[in-house]
Amino acid sequence: MLPESYFLVGDVTHPGPLLVTCEHATNRLPGSIHIDAHESHLLTTHRGWDIGARDVAAEIIRMTQSVGIFSSFSRLYCDPNRAITDPSWIPVVVDGHPVSFNQNLTPSELEYRLQTFHNPYHEAIERTIESRKTNPIPFWLLSVHSYTPKLGDSIRTMEAGVLFDKHALAAHRLRDSLCQRGLDCALNEPYSGREGLIYSARLHGKAHDLLFLELELRQDLIDTPEKARRVAHEVVHALNSIPHSLHG
Ligand SMILES: [Zn+2]
Repeated sequence: MLPESYFLVGDVTHPGPLLVTCEHATNRLPGSIHIDAHESHLLTTHRGWDIGARDVAAEIIRMTQSVGIFSSFSRLYCDPNRAITDPSWIPVVVDGHPVSFNQNLTPSELEYRLQTFHNPYHEAIERTIESRKTNPIPFWLLSVHSYTPKLGDSIRTMEAGVLFDKHALAAHRLRDSLCQRGLDCALNEPYSGREGLIYSARLHGKAHDLLFLELELRQDLIDTPEKARRVAHEVVHALNSIPHSLHG
């Protein structure tokens, strides 16, 4: 039996306003992968997963009675938030260290990761969108991520980022509302949604003409379940600032 590439969270028959995705929900590697001791620390950092993002996403889903798809594999193995045309979809070198299990992959190994993990994850989102569409109440796509407060020499003092490509008005509303709730929040920071870096939300949002945004939260604000729940509550209140007229 093939390994499952995703988790369905919540209930697709609930008419909540969101389909929440979490591309970096876990640092789990497939059982067939051996990780060397000298690099196992990578899995515990933002290189392996988005610390706290899963807990925030789950709480948003619970509070809004929405539905979500979370990945079940580490971004270090393959990254579902990157197009496979982007060489970083399988990170060969991270922080100057070659990732042992990503070196010299054969075409069949690349195909296996694509067909067993990357594609099924996105197919699950597609199926969930199709199911959710059978309910006439509108919904939109929110992709939840976290970022490290320190990347190389750069210190990220801001607490949240709303990343957008097409939907500037909704992004501004959400940013303003998060700021009003006390979060230091910026637009298209710590990186821009206009550079192909919100791949998953953009892929599915554009295909179905749905509003799509990516929310980035600084990981130290959400690195325990309790902290994640508190931030999720602020996010849910802020999400109410996006009127139905902007959905889709
Ligand atoms: Zn992420």
